[in-house]
Amino acid sequence: MKIVALAGGVGGAKLADGLAQALPPSDLTVIVNTGDDFEHLGLHISPDLDTVCYTLAGLANPVTGWGRADETFHALEAVRQLGGPGWFALGDRDLGTHLERTRRRRQGDRLSEITRDFCRAWGVEVRVLPMSDDPVPTIVHTTEGDLPFQEYFVLRQAMPTVRGFTFLGAENARPAPGVLEALQRAEAVIFCPSNPWVSLDPILAIPGVRAAAAARPLVAVSPIIGGQTVKGPAAKMYAEMGIQPSALAVARHYHDLLDGFVLDTVDAEQAADIRSLGIRPLVAPTWMRSRADRKALAQAVLNFVQTFIN
Ligand code: GDP
Repeated sequence: MKIVALAGGVGGAKLADGLAQALPPSDLTVIVNTGDDFEHLGLHISPDLDTVCYTLAGLANPVTGWGRADETFHALEAVRQLGGPGWFALGDRDLGTHLERTRRRRQGDRLSEITRDFCRAWGVEVRVLPMSDDPVPTIVHTTEGDLPFQEYFVLRQAMPTVRGFTFLGAENARPAPGVLEALQRAEAVIFCPSNPWVSLDPILAIPGVRAAAAARPLVAVSPIIGGQTVKGPAAKMYAEMGIQPSALAVARHYHDLLDGFVLDTVDAEQAADIRSLGIRPLVAPTWMRSRADRKALAQAVLNFVQTFIN
């Protein structure tokens, strides 16, 4: 079954790993948000791409969900000691990725080519595509002014109250090579349990992506469980945007796109409301605490997806 999954970082990577365990590698393409990408210490950093690739490669830090396992931070400590910007945690092994990516970008290689080559080197067989090779930085509009995404998310620890988001340059960005083709060829599209506002909306803002995804059977998995996130500010963002955070709110967020929606067992009472939006609900355990949980959820989602494929 040819599947395209749309993913941000931590939540997206976990389900992508489950899907990679459940499908032959040639059946899975993961399209990843690059709205969080930024330049730091002169390096091109792609946090969500790296989280997805490290996770699929078995290199990810199992505690944080981002960065690499067996990591040290000597270079970062040295930067801090010299009075440099030490607020964004870059481990020594991780720095190797950013150094090489930046070197390749400077010689004119596209992010999608670099990602393909890195995946090959790491033994990742699943196809991982950035949403675009063009920069589409997310700007967070807050009551304290406009902030580039990482300044909001990491430096300010998502504390400022959000008012909205802009994906700068999205209207003129081109989908990365293979993105539209993968969506058109997919038997179904899965939205991983990623932050709707700042992980999946940027991907959907790339011209052609939303329509191509909507044309396929489409199932989303809720990143909100019991009104809260497992990690990150998605629930806080809903509240600040004037919407009560819930699985139902996520289903409404995407509702014109969705055929099916997977919500957690703790939210089972919301299934009827989701059905009344014209979306078929599946209630399942969605909190992926282990690798086995990832595979089990992926298998449940794939079985559900199969019911939409005629
Ligand atoms: P980020 O870019 O690293 O913030 O990554 P994502 O947007 O992909 O992931 C953040 C979202 O993943 C949050 O809204 C979390 O609630 C959600 N998430 C993380 N782990 C899980 C999980 O095990 N199950 C579900 N359903 N959601 C999860």
